Amino acid sequence: MSKAKRAGEKALRKDVVATALAMSRSGLSPGRSGNVSCRWSDGMLITPSGKHYEEISPDDIVFVGRDGSFEQNSQLPSSEWHFHLAAYNARPDRNALVHAHSLHATALACAHKAIPAFHYMVAVAGGKDIPCVPYATFGTPELARHVADGLKERDACLMANHGQIAIGLTLAAALELASEVEVLAEQYIATLMLGPAHILPDEEMEIVIGKFRSYGAQAIKPTH
Ligand code: 13P
Ligand code: ZN
Repeated sequence: MSKAKRAGEKALRKDVVATALAMSRSGLSPGRSGNVSCRWSDGMLITPSGKHYEEISPDDIVFVGRDGSFEQNSQLPSSEWHFHLAAYNARPDRNALVHAHSLHATALACAHKAIPAFHYMVAVAGGKDIPCVPYATFGTPELARHVADGLKERDACLMANHGQIAIGLTLAAALELASEVEVLAEQYIATLMLGPAHILPDEEMEIVIGKFRSYGAQAIKPTH
């Protein structure tokens, strides 16, 4: 491996640890739950299984090849490596994934409720709703198939009786979206307590999705 490639891998390993720590410290995923990965080489770099994120170092991040292979002397990769790989296969345009058992998203997932267009911000996940994919046992190829379906046309989904997943161009984007999904889930539950939510029509969500394509662009425009 070239020196530059080694340096790139080292930086990404650090970034995966920082993202997992930020997820855990912000309270987005309790205890040892949740996991984080990013695309690397012909596979991905993923958090180890069953570890407290306060205790992991960049060397504990596991490289998993696209066929699911990993080095025998590494840590065990997250038990959810199947759905991480499936998400990258389904979405060649995304490079990072955050999975969290965040409180409100998980509550909706346990009620088998998707998040409909009750608020225009639902479009942040790329469509008119945030789907809830069917239940399958954690860590199984069956769950990975459901996740691949759920993320085919969205950047986030809920998993029945489990939690949520968000993907992004970068680790920071995936984490930001996971936080956004959690806020939307909390707002949706609060709305349901007042009665049925008023759902925005598909045409309005199309307009919002169009506006989101350019939203935030000023942040990267040159100022002079
Ligand atoms: P891992 O510790 O194996 O990543 O599992 C956590 C989890 O959330 C399983 O869905
Ligand atoms: Zn989980």
